[in-house]
Amino acid sequence: MSATAPRPPKDSPDAPAAPAARAAAPAPAPDAPAVALDGVHKRYGDTRAVDGVSFTVARGEFFGLLGPNGAGKTTLVEIMEGQRRADAGTVTVLGTSPWPRNVALLPRLGVQTQASAFFVRLTAREHLCTMAALYRCDAAAAERALASVGLTEQGDTRVDDLSGGQRQRLAIASALVHGPELIFLDEPTAALDPQARRALWQVLRDLKGAGRTIVYTTHHLDEAEALCDRVAIMVDGKVAALDSPASLIAAGSPTTRLLVPAGRLTLAAARAIPGVDRAEEEADSIVLETLESGRVLAAVDAIAGLQGVQTRTASLEDVYLALTGAPQP
Ligand code: ADP
Repeated sequence: MSATAPRPPKDSPDAPAAPAARAAAPAPAPDAPAVALDGVHKRYGDTRAVDGVSFTVARGEFFGLLGPNGAGKTTLVEIMEGQRRADAGTVTVLGTSPWPRNVALLPRLGVQTQASAFFVRLTAREHLCTMAALYRCDAAAAERALASVGLTEQGDTRVDDLSGGQRQRLAIASALVHGPELIFLDEPTAALDPQARRALWQVLRDLKGAGRTIVYTTHHLDEAEALCDRVAIMVDGKVAALDSPASLIAAGSPTTRLLVPAGRLTLAAARAIPGVDRAEEEADSIVLETLESGRVLAAVDAIAGLQGVQTRTASLEDVYLALTGAPQP
């Protein structure tokens, strides 16, 4: 087995458990959330990696964890997976505590990391069969996992010879092979080209369609917007915002920008349209900002027609940059 392991070692499962984590978990209610975090803290020396995080992830939810490098996402995910011990707070996963290492919980979790380990001398199919056997699943489970990530044709290719994107998909298949209820994916589309990324979106949507709960991290904000039911945006170990992408966007920036080709509309005429909050000339366009896009579009149509007019609404990226700090020009 070979693995690149850039991250420092996880907490030892033999270390004494934090008092909060040692408390016996009550029997889970049928509709109990997949994950419940309450006041979770984790420090490394002076670094507050996770600084008072509380949220729940519902069963069947597709939950995104966003934030810049160093925001604490990986530490938080590792705490949920039972690989790290929280210093304080309560962590409940599928109705039980993941720490100390909970062997009853492990088969119910699927984990894909950036440093997923592979049996590199085996073929993709043999690798998955081996993973399946570890979980006492049969070869059919391996075949299903292979197909679910679109790797059936590469089944007889040695792991060594797979492309980066194919390995990425194999890592995801490895996390799925035993049919886990809750799946943790760490930047699963990071190394993929746009087509492979879109193909994987379908894999992830199918998993959600099959009732699985997904917690995943990504730096692709368009992807989070397209896939996630809710996202938490982490900054400096804290949750800076948590909601559905649509609600975050609506709350963050309800303004619509209309770009009308210059020459079709004067600035004065644009500013006189009821509902236009701001109008400026930018490059080859007159840019109108409004909270009432329908009304303003109708007025633009009456004055200049809609040919070539473009509409820009805010995106999750706008919200994210506002919370985490826009890049310096
Ligand atoms: P993210 O996944 O959002 O990039 P991390 O959870 O990896 O964030 O890191 C959060 C903070 O904790 C960072 O400042 C990082 O340098 C620090 N950190 C993470 N793991 C360790 C560790 N094992 N020892 C010391 N500091 C760590």
